[in-house]
Amino acid sequence: MNPRPLRILVVEDHDTLRAQIVALLRRAGHYVDEANDGRLALAVARAEPPDIVLLDLGLPDIDGTDLCAKIRALMPHRVPVLMLTARDTLREKLVGFEAGADDYLVKPFASEELLARIQALTRRAQLGQAYVQAIGSLTIDRRASEAHRNGVRLSLAPTAFAVLCLLADAYPKARTRSDLVRRLWPENAPESDPLRTHLYQLRQALDKPFATPMLKTVHGVGFRLESDES
Ligand code: CA
Repeated sequence: MNPRPLRILVVEDHDTLRAQIVALLRRAGHYVDEANDGRLALAVARAEPPDIVLLDLGLPDIDGTDLCAKIRALMPHRVPVLMLTARDTLREKLVGFEAGADDYLVKPFASEELLARIQALTRRAQLGQAYVQAIGSLTIDRRASEAHRNGVRLSLAPTAFAVLCLLADAYPKARTRSDLVRRLWPENAPESDPLRTHLYQLRQALDKPFATPMLKTVHGVGFRLESDES
């Protein structure tokens, strides 16, 4: 039984190990893109959105956990991330999961183990568990890039949808303005107040037609979502 071919991004700075992983995945029938540092990984992820990312925790230019968050912020839907690390400590494992890694594999690992984890993660993702999030009457489907409130589809431009996803990721906590800007535009943020129009669009779609606003401004902090159902 051959699983559906996936587009897999392998981010690993150890050349021999990366070559081994890439060869293994290609033999298993997958399309593989590779990067040996974070900057290249972001460029590749942007050009060829992956179905799954294998990410080395220790990279030369950016910490794997930061890169995980950046890739997440870049993708319109939630991409499963499997963190690879040589450092088998509980603390780093927790850091990886907080940054949004879905699973974790300690180097060295067996080929079968890697392939099995990839299948498990994509199966979970295809079931939609990782994609659809509900907050009160709001549902966000990252795979379809759609949000509904009270069953009404919200008309959102891609950046406004990305803002909504970032706030939903942080829910019920707030995200700061600077955090949103950094995640939306990892390399060069537009000048002046880049969030303004996108937050306006989001409010128009998410809150204006409904009795209870869900997008809250936290003065001096940033923004957060609040459930409309207690
Ligand atoms: Ca490394």
